[in-house]
Amino acid sequence: MFDFMILVLGMIIGSFLTVCIYRLPQNQSIVTLPSHCLHCNTKLKAWDLIPILSYLLLRGKCRYCGKPYSSRYAVVELITGLLFLWSYQIVGWSPDLLKVFIFTAFLIVITFIDYDHQLILDKVLLWFAGVGVAINLGSGYPHIADMIIAALAGGGLLLFVAVLTRGGMGGGDIKFVAVLGLWLGVKLVIVALLLAFIIGGIGGALLLLFKVKGRKDFIPFGPFLAVGAFISILYGSKLVWWYLLTIAK
Ligand SMILES: [Zn+2]
Repeated sequence: MFDFMILVLGMIIGSFLTVCIYRLPQNQSIVTLPSHCLHCNTKLKAWDLIPILSYLLLRGKCRYCGKPYSSRYAVVELITGLLFLWSYQIVGWSPDLLKVFIFTAFLIVITFIDYDHQLILDKVLLWFAGVGVAINLGSGYPHIADMIIAALAGGGLLLFVAVLTRGGMGGGDIKFVAVLGLWLGVKLVIVALLLAFIIGGIGGALLLLFKVKGRKDFIPFGPFLAVGAFISILYGSKLVWWYLLTIAK
């Protein structure tokens, strides 16, 4: 029962995230403008905004003008719902669950904006950093020194990779990792980075193999960082222990 409630909560949050993903790069307000159809501008009623369900019932078309909506809305809603459910399965009821939910929501917004525009917005990163620092100071961990070292080390490492690959990483990626450091602390940001490089390597190869991207196309690294960060906040501590107890023994 709780599973279902968490899934629905995630999809409702996901519905708000699609608005953020669409409007933030265009400098539109995410709070004051009511939701409206992008084709006919009709203001959408609460009934039209029920995640997934309204999309399925209306077969992905606007009720008023009949033009198709992007399936993006339903995709982001579903992904958010499933990631929230996954987090709940691992973290359970605890104050950390709220932290993971907020972390995940920011990761989704950053991932989709980066995918669409090859851009990680400074204003999103600033909010992401501010909220993370506030939560960590409130809960007392990671400790403030840990946060600062992680931000500098993570950002520094990516700066190094950026210089090495001559622009394979953008400035946005470097700042993104620094903020992930603030959220995760040293150990978990290292896990996140390692995972991002592994998944990015495999993912990049697959994109080339299936010709989704050409050899000269730019593949944004932000989404891979986001995946690494999500796995790290859920499993990072376990991975570090597993490493210390088996590989480094
Ligand atoms: Zn319409």
